Amino acid sequence: MRVRFLPGVGPKRSEQLARLGVERVYDLLYLFPRRYIDATNVVPIGSLRSGAREVAVLGKVVSAREITGRGGRKLGFEALLEDGSGRISCSFFGRAFLSGIIRKDQRWLVFGDVRRYRGKLQLNPVEYEQADDPAGDGSKPGCVLTVYPSTEGLGQKTLRKLVGSALDAGEKLVEHLPESLRARFFLPERNEALQAVHRPRSLTEASAGRRALAFDELFYLELMLLGRKYHVGQAARVRPYKKHNHLLKKLAASLPFELTGAQKKVIREIDSDLTGPHPLSRLVQGDVGSGKTIVALIAALRAVENGYQAALMAPTEVLAGQHWRTLSRLLEPLEIEPALLLGKQGAAVKREQAARIASGEARIAVGTHALIQQGVEFRNLGLAIIDEQHRFGVNQRLSLRSKGRDTDCLVMTATPIPRSLALTLYGDLDVSVIDELPAGRKPVNTHVVPRRKRAEMERFVAGRVAAGEQAYVVCPRIEDDQQSELAAAEAVFEHYSGKVFPDRKVVLLHGRMKSGDKEAAMAAFESGEAPVLVGTTVIEVGIDVERATVIVIEGAERFGLSQLHQLRGRVGRGELESWCLFLPGAQAGADSLGRLEILASTTDGFKISEEDLRLRGPGDFFGRRQSGLPELRCADLIEDYPLLVEARECARGILSDDPYLESEPNRPLRRELIRRFHNRVGFLKVG
Ligand code: ADP
Ligand code: MG
Repeated sequence: MRVRFLPGVGPKRSEQLARLGVERVYDLLYLFPRRYIDATNVVPIGSLRSGAREVAVLGKVVSAREITGRGGRKLGFEALLEDGSGRISCSFFGRAFLSGIIRKDQRWLVFGDVRRYRGKLQLNPVEYEQADDPAGDGSKPGCVLTVYPSTEGLGQKTLRKLVGSALDAGEKLVEHLPESLRARFFLPERNEALQAVHRPRSLTEASAGRRALAFDELFYLELMLLGRKYHVGQAARVRPYKKHNHLLKKLAASLPFELTGAQKKVIREIDSDLTGPHPLSRLVQGDVGSGKTIVALIAALRAVENGYQAALMAPTEVLAGQHWRTLSRLLEPLEIEPALLLGKQGAAVKREQAARIASGEARIAVGTHALIQQGVEFRNLGLAIIDEQHRFGVNQRLSLRSKGRDTDCLVMTATPIPRSLALTLYGDLDVSVIDELPAGRKPVNTHVVPRRKRAEMERFVAGRVAAGEQAYVVCPRIEDDQQSELAAAEAVFEHYSGKVFPDRKVVLLHGRMKSGDKEAAMAAFESGEAPVLVGTTVIEVGIDVERATVIVIEGAERFGLSQLHQLRGRVGRGELESWCLFLPGAQAGADSLGRLEILASTTDGFKISEEDLRLRGPGDFFGRRQSGLPELRCADLIEDYPLLVEARECARGILSDDPYLESEPNRPLRRELIRRFHNRVGFLKVG
């Protein structure tokens, strides 16, 4: 049923609700409170002290008046509340309209903070509810108030009323969780859980309801992900790889370093998939600088040794270009010349590269999304490698894979994804972790630089450059406004090239430059001809220049923690000592400085990303472009991690007996799974 059939919902209301994603009555039931206000503990007014926060009082209105300023301007409303133990003034600033609502002799429940004003205690209400119950027996106890995500013109009271009428509309929802699971985890039925979430009598009741709905969500999510994993796992490899080693031996001979133990471990894991009975679907996680590129290259050579092509896809042209140069250099002694395919290449170059890929002459292809465009054909793609996977969506991963038949798929990410997210986002992948940095790496010296010390900092950076090292300067990020971001970048560039390094070459790199200019800037920096690179976050992923020892981040408070960690990872990649310097903008508050201090105190990427996820939530964490993250309405991946693990175990238990959910008792699960995830579980319809 559409919401506009609910009492009190006209065209304007429907439009406001649509902004919250609510179109049907059902959506209203699934509009979950952002938080609760616990007004169950009503305290006597006489016991209130200045500074008390979030207290609930219940009393009778002994007087009520509008507050007017000079010239009779209405400033707000004030009510004096009495409960037998004392009296307190409740001051509703800016809400003069309440004079028509809160009246003398009524009883009200008011919730807010207490402070002293002109010598008297005053309550600043956040929430207020009339406490006279319609039956007229005089009082109702305190209650738990829901706080919904709100939008312009749609207040909490209205939302509560609307959700209330949705609950009362009496649409009984079908239960989706099997009785046995509900019994095992003490979960109320769905209808009951919804009541508890929206009309809780206590916080405990609310959280029990929420837990049941979160479990429902996580259970189906895991059923989908694991179902897919079983499905892929059942596919047989057409031809298991043999270990030929002739190319790898040559590579090892020319490699300038020894692989770390962690790299070797991950390569063994990849090898065992490649020689095993099923296709490879593996995520390699490793902190910035842990050396993922070489692992990818070794996997690619396995494919080549077995007569297949390999493709390496990166999220930016700058990174793809750099990978291509690295690979070309390492593969030269092996007489392999990788192809490079970028969106902005001229038509002729593109055609030539695509032809080398199609004919199979290029054994390895490197590129951006250009690799998955229509018209790009491989002769026999055996291994698809995706670098910085978090920048791509699931569909792009699948598209690259589908350029071959029974293609193996290796994805790499430097964003250390919290375990909980890895389990859900990549639930259909096996996970390998490179949990060791190459020997000799020193932790990056990280400092938050106060603004008054800017000149001193610039002298320091100039000193490092004078000593033959190199520096990055990252420009402030300006969300949703590319024009101002560009202007800011140019201003920062002017400053550094004109004032700080007047007699050095400084290059500028940003996303909107022409492809050729980007490459030229990058090449000048890589060769050391330009010792300083001023850039936007295009340098965030992957870039690798060993002599770069300093990274200055202007407007550092505007970046997410994980992003700052990635940026910091641009330095400290060799044996030289290195520095990461955060220069907060003028508006940075104490909160954001505190956040930056977290980074100064730890280099553990996993810890940082958990913190980041906690601060920003999964949507923002991966940015809006991340299309792979399923939407969760109720469950919270960090808070509900233990529940996620349980849900996963349940799903695994069911699928291990019946991977396609074909048995009679599992039919309803299968039906619901298809309803929720349709094309993602396409194999169920066929299977
Ligand atoms: P990331 O994991 O961030 O993608 P890269 O693959 O770019 O890291 O490697 C970072 C740097 O470390 C590169 O310069 C690479 O040559 C170097 N490197 C990789 N593995 C090792 C190793 N085992 N010993 C020393 N240096 C290594
Ligand atoms: Mg990398």
